[in-house]
Amino acid sequence: MVSIAVESAEMARAAWAAAASVPDPEVPCVTVADLGILRAVEIEDGVAVARVTPTYSGCPAVLAIELAVEAALRDAGFEARVERVFSPAWTTEWITAEGRSKLREYGIAPPARASNSIRALFGETQVDCPRCGSSETERVSEFGSTACKALYRCATCREPFDYFKCI
Ligand SMILES: [Zn+2]
Repeated sequence: MVSIAVESAEMARAAWAAAASVPDPEVPCVTVADLGILRAVEIEDGVAVARVTPTYSGCPAVLAIELAVEAALRDAGFEARVERVFSPAWTTEWITAEGRSKLREYGIAPPARASNSIRALFGETQVDCPRCGSSETERVSEFGSTACKALYRCATCREPFDYFKCI
């Protein structure tokens, strides 16, 4: 006989797996779980409730992420609801080790360290080249392919790359 507690734990695991597979709309090489945006998925009265924390308020991807997570849960057969959680605030420290290595493979320098400072937001931190590892890099533009990223160029291998800003 399967207890209700075991059954709901299995449902919660399946719901987490479905929601965690959603790619970030701006950086599709990483999932919302890799980025730490997906906080939790719980089964409440038979409904899968996903809690999502926006990276920062100016990021237009937040709504797209919420819709994608909800759709993934429905596709997995769940009644679903997505709740936005603002506290504690997301920082780049929430990006998992796997997420950081995926970003690097994709040619995006992962955030150097978690920070909420304005200086860090505008990239005034040491950024290493994701291709050759050189620290001889320069910021070309505050905004890369999306507002969450800055464009850098490596002085060693001459390649431009995106830097995922610290926020
Ligand atoms: Zn380089």
